[in-house]
Amino acid sequence: MEKCILIRYGEIFLKSGNRSFFEGLLKKNIKTALAGIKFSINSSQTRYYVGEYAENDEEEIINRLKKVFGIHSLSVCYKLKTDLEALRAAVCKVFNKEGKFRVTVNRADKRVQKSSMDIAKYLGAALLDVSGGGLKVDLFDFDYEINVDIRENGSTYLFYDKIPGAGGLPVGSSGKGLLLLSGGIDSPVAGYMALKRGMKISALHFHSFPYTSVRAKEKVTELAELLKSYTGDITLYFVTFTEIQQAIHEKCPNEYMITIMRRIMMRIAQKLSVAQKFDAVITGENLGQVASQTVESLKSTDSATDMLILRPLICFDKKEIIDTAKKIGTYDTSILPFEDCCTVFLPKNPSIRPKLKDVEAAEKALDIDLLIEQAINGIEVVSL
Ligand code: ATP
Ligand code: MG
Repeated sequence: MEKCILIRYGEIFLKSGNRSFFEGLLKKNIKTALAGIKFSINSSQTRYYVGEYAENDEEEIINRLKKVFGIHSLSVCYKLKTDLEALRAAVCKVFNKEGKFRVTVNRADKRVQKSSMDIAKYLGAALLDVSGGGLKVDLFDFDYEINVDIRENGSTYLFYDKIPGAGGLPVGSSGKGLLLLSGGIDSPVAGYMALKRGMKISALHFHSFPYTSVRAKEKVTELAELLKSYTGDITLYFVTFTEIQQAIHEKCPNEYMITIMRRIMMRIAQKLSVAQKFDAVITGENLGQVASQTVESLKSTDSATDMLILRPLICFDKKEIIDTAKKIGTYDTSILPFEDCCTVFLPKNPSIRPKLKDVEAAEKALDIDLLIEQAINGIEVVSL
């Protein structure tokens, strides 16, 4: 029996008047996700069908499609020539579950004489016949819905499993963002959430070599690789932050160290964003989590540039972030014990409520433009 995978995409973006744009993007992203596998893709009535693949690629195809944002759900379908006898035999052969079920028939092909209801009853009765007592019909409280879609084109599609998709919007439909990617738990989750809402991302990591190890850089690369499976490709920028941290450490009051560091990170992110046309910077910041994430600290970070800063995790509890990190597969890598730059030179008593005018005054001791220029000149670009 010929099989194919039915892809349903969310209805939300279909209303926006940009339907063909979103559909085209989703199709392109599906093709990217399935690169290296032989398949065909067709569309019909706000759905895509992936077919003509080798049976032993099916699991891999489903696993990859589960990571494509914009897909609502998936079903493995059996495709038959429209014929009630063949349909009955097929349902009895492939549906081997126990429990409560219903059959739902959609008959677009009016050449088929029986009504939808009669076909459903006919198939339901046939299933009960072969089930040996393990099945029961329940139209309202069912474990399985067996769907039969009788198309006008002479084909009938049969499916009963609904596999949840990743949801969200197709990557590329919400502009381009630059993710500030540390080695921690939060920022990969923030990147995932921006991708989920359709933002294409690149990542920027600040390291403090030789104070941080090569392994710390590898860890960040690994995290970016994990995010890549949701988007197809990621560009990773590495910036050396050591000289900047040293300069702040020497010339600025200790309690403003983190605040000033974060403001310079933002300025570097902005420079890169102007050059590479990023629409926003994304961080894993979270209200109240640490000293650099109080309202005052966030305000002082914001005021360093006029970039749009997206903080998808701002109001999440740590547990919610950890649960998501586990779900998306980044948690185990994030908890590996390699320090990112922020833990080097860490002051004992960072200011929790930095006053902007004091911070600005403290920054005057630095040649910020030069420091930023040097950092940008030394940038290392890795395309994953
Ligand atoms: P994370 O778990 O993402 O490291 P965190 O809770 O440790 O976050 P901070 O260290 O204050 O919090 O960092 C806040 C955010 O700043 C991070 O989520 C990340 O977006 C960015 N950031 C911090 N350190 C770096 C770094 N070395 N390189 C790039 N971005 C960073
Ligand atoms: Mg961190």
